[in-house]
Amino acid sequence: MYKHLPDLAPPQTALERLPEEWSAQLEAWGEPKYRGKQVFQWLHARGVLDPAAMTNLPKSLRDRLAQDLVIDAAIQVSSVHDSEDGTKKLLLTTHDGRTSEAVLIPMPSAERGDTYAAEDPSGEETASEPQTPVTQCISTQIGCAMGCVFCASGLAGLKRHMSAGEIVGQVILGRAHTAEGSRLRNVVFMGMGEPLHNYAAVARALTLLTHPEGLALSKRRVTISTSGLVPEIDRLGRDFGGEVQLAVSLHSPDDAQRSQIMPINKKHPLPELMEALRRYPLPKRRRITIEYTLIKGFNADPSDAKKLAELLRGLPVKVNLIPLNRVEGNPLEPPSWDDVDAFQATLRDGGVANFVRRRKGDDIAAACGQLALRNEPKKIRVALPQLRG
Ligand code: SAH
Ligand code: SF4
Repeated sequence: MYKHLPDLAPPQTALERLPEEWSAQLEAWGEPKYRGKQVFQWLHARGVLDPAAMTNLPKSLRDRLAQDLVIDAAIQVSSVHDSEDGTKKLLLTTHDGRTSEAVLIPMPSAERGDTYAAEDPSGEETASEPQTPVTQCISTQIGCAMGCVFCASGLAGLKRHMSAGEIVGQVILGRAHTAEGSRLRNVVFMGMGEPLHNYAAVARALTLLTHPEGLALSKRRVTISTSGLVPEIDRLGRDFGGEVQLAVSLHSPDDAQRSQIMPINKKHPLPELMEALRRYPLPKRRRITIEYTLIKGFNADPSDAKKLAELLRGLPVKVNLIPLNRVEGNPLEPPSWDDVDAFQATLRDGGVANFVRRRKGDDIAAACGQLALRNEPKKIRVALPQLRG
């Protein structure tokens, strides 16, 4: 039995059925119950979406699956873009003709401190690993409703939530596109959309991705990144026992300053968010990731670093510093590398563990905050923050 199974809404498509839900469906067709697990394993453990290739099933059942269930229609890869640094961007099309994006990021050992590598507290990951671990960044919504001023994903607003099948489908497709000699090891919910705004589908997707009969990803290797939806952070903690890696987009140590760039802060102000982090049921020796996008003239001064260190004192966190990635048509800029170094040093002196996230896939617009809706009118006009100097 699955240990922390949350109270899930019913599955919408074939790809999002759990083994026991497959068993119920197949029993209704007069098939033995154990076939449910077999079908689930084909889809999720082996990534085989074509019923004709499910060779341990009787022909009659394969035919019925092919006829009654359009398994692979949840999401399709429409094109693949390769970056010079090995990053791969998958452009995806949904059944209703929407587009989305997912990114595959190889993680050579030197870069394993980054969130993208979902740092392993057990130390199990060593230089002797024969295959390059790959981190996949997936999307959870078509667009985003949160309207953060530095991000391309929300520029056209929220079009719709993605289903659990579409979310998990990205990982099944991503694994199939992982280069030879590498292995899909971590999944980060850091693509387009706010995962906790689409909680029901994300909870089911997490259950599917970590199911022992399926992809069997370890919960600590799956990271949910949120802009700070407090009730859903609590819910995630409850439903998954704190084992899913939590990343929080903080971007400012000051309540008023944070509201200028992240509208969600007006609904759930910084002190409320910090309280939610304090009560997140984190297992021993694990840390919450704090994401901090550095914006020139706004939040990248050593005084901001000092304030951030004070805010985070005593909390089990590690900070991921992300020099802003430029977004077309948006005048915000990253600080200089010298300023990034100075920020990092001040934070370190303040006793806060931190890493700088190297820009990945910049040349194919696959870096953080660059995933955007293609061919959609950009409706939201963001009010830019007050810059210093
Ligand atoms: N909606 C979620 C997850 C997706 S964004 C969230 O906001 O956390 C993943 C990370 O990229 C977040 O920390 C986000 O704030 C950051 N980000 C967005 N736009 C960016 C940009 N232009 N440059 C650098 N980081 C950006
Ligand atoms: Fe949405 Fe995250 Fe972008 Fe904010 S940073 S608009 S929450 S995707």
